[in-house]
This record gives sequence, structure tokens and C-alpha cells, in this order.
Amino acid sequence: MILMDGNSLSKNRLSELRSKVDAEFKKIGKRPGLAVVRVGDFAPSKIYVGKKIKACEAAGIHSVERHLPETATQSQVSELIHQLNEDKNIHGILLQLPLPKQLSENKLLEIISPQKDVDGLHPLNLGRLAARLPGFVPCTPLGIMSLLTDYKITIAGKKAVVIGRSRIVGRPISLLLDQAGATVTVVHSQTPNMDEFLEDADIIVVAVGKPHFLSKQKVKKGVAIIDVGINRLESGKIVGDVDFESIKDQTSAITPVPGGVGPMTICSLLENTWTSFLHENSPRK
Ligand code: NAP
Repeated sequence: MILMDGNSLSKNRLSELRSKVDAEFKKIGKRPGLAVVRVGDFAPSKIYVGKKIKACEAAGIHSVERHLPETATQSQVSELIHQLNEDKNIHGILLQLPLPKQLSENKLLEIISPQKDVDGLHPLNLGRLAARLPGFVPCTPLGIMSLLTDYKITIAGKKAVVIGRSRIVGRPISLLLDQAGATVTVVHSQTPNMDEFLEDADIIVVAVGKPHFLSKQKVKKGVAIIDVGINRLESGKIVGDVDFESIKDQTSAITPVPGGVGPMTICSLLENTWTSFLHENSPRK
């Protein structure tokens, strides 16, 4: 069984990114810039944003965190996003989710300039992904594809099952696996007899948000499993959606939680910011 180590892969990729960022800075005196917008006091968001800012520092990317209070209105958040859209030092804008209930996530995501939408959640970028056109791809699915590629997991011709169909993970990873040549089945909370699909799968991506959702008896020997879930138990321990201990010997490859998909999500965010910066500074622009 191969443990797909997102910590070490992201560390290597961020160090490569740092070299490119520093070389470009020497050449043109500019660095990529990422703005993270955080609204309210949701504790996990504070931790995730802190990790993103720290990773930016490691990669030589300029970063700003803009924090608005829990009571922020739709127009206050949109005004901030409009300002960042116009800011020449900012190449990527991330709206940290979830948002307080009074705000419309859909409307705010649509205000982000598609050229700075490094989280890939603007409908235009999601549409481009569905149309197989270039554009920003959501960070978690992109990170998953980097892990599968780096660990040489064959995708073309394989049967992949994605559990979950969210905008941020399930739906875009199903499109990416399809593009890479897998035959993809997406299952969700209304799927009857889900085990029938799981038993036959060569690759399973689990993005449900329930601890120990997937266990040994449901999968075939040699399956590759990507565990996207991040669940905090009452003890404070962080676990994924997969019952790792019971299932690991059944797999050919599996991601740990923590240390699998999570660091790759951050890595993809920074790589998308770099892509946006290169596009902004391209002589062809
Ligand atoms: P989400 O929006 O809540 O979506 C969960 C999906 O799971 C939904 O499509 C839902 O089906 C499906 N589901 C729920 N119960 C199910 C059941 N009993 N059987 C089959 N499917 C079921 O969650 P998300 O944003 O995709 O996140 C999923 C997990 O990944 C969470 O733990 C989240 O914290 C984690 N996450 C991790 C990263 C990372 O970087 N590692 C990034 C993003 C998310 P319906 O559509 O029918 O409701």
C-alpha cells in the first residue's frame, strides 16, 4: 500500500514555486499577490486562512487577509471584492467559505473577477471546466489530480466513484477524472445501493464530511482511495471520511488525514495565484 503523502508533495511543489517567484521578482520586481476575504468568527476558517497565509510566505507570494465582522452585509462584502478586483497588486482573490447566513455565497462568488478567481468557483470557470476549456480549476480537485499524477495512479480506463457532489469538491473532481479518461460515477445522499458502485471501483474519492463513512467491507482489493473529509471528533482529533485503519490494507494507495488532500489544496491555491500573475504579466496580454 502506498501512502499518498500530501505534506511532502506540497512541500516540494511550493519550494519549486518559490524559485520561480524569486526569479521573476529579480527580473521584473513584482511578486504574485493573494487576498483572502474572511467574514465572521467561524473558528476553522481562521485556522485554514492562517495556513494559507503561512504557505504564501513560504512561497514568496504577497498575501493580505481582509477580515469583516460576523454582521457584515452583502454590500460591504461586495464592495471589498470590487476593490480587490481593481487592486493591481492582487492576482488572486479567495472568499473563505462558509459565510454567515445573511450573505449570499452564490452572488458574492459571481462578483469575483474570473481572472482572479484562483479558487475556481466562479460559474464562468466552472463552466469552462465542464466545457474542457482552460480556466481556474477548484483547488481541492486540482490538488487531488496532482496527488494521483505524482503517485502514478492510472486513471484512464479505470472506474472511478466520487462520493459527494458539492460545487467545491465532488462535482469538479468528477469532471477532472472524466477528462483524464476514467468512467466516473457520482453518488450522493439519495443514491440507493451505493455499495454496488463502491465494490466495483478502482478509484474512490470520498467527500462527504462524515467520520468513518467508508469502511473495508465496501471496497475491492487494490482500490486507490482519496479521503477529502476533514472531521473534528469530540476528542479534538481530526479524521477523514474513511476508516483508515480498517481499510488501508485493502488499498493499493490511500491518502492520510491529516497530511493528504489538505496541504495539496493550499498548494493548488498558490499555483493558481502564480498562473494568474503570469497571465497578468504576460507580454501577449
Ligand atoms: P458538502 O457540500 O456538505 O457535500 C457533501 C456531499 O456528501 C453532498 O453531495 C451529499 O449529498 C453527500 N452525502 C452526505 N451524506 C451522504 C450519504 N449518507 N451518502 C452519500 N453521500 C452523502 O461538503 P464538501 O464541501 O464537499 O466537503 C466534504 C468534506 O470534505 C468535508 O469534511 C469538508 O470539510 C472536506 N473538505 C476538505 C477539503 C480539503 O482541502 N481537504 C476541502 C474542501 C472540503 P447531497 O448532495 O445529496 O446532499
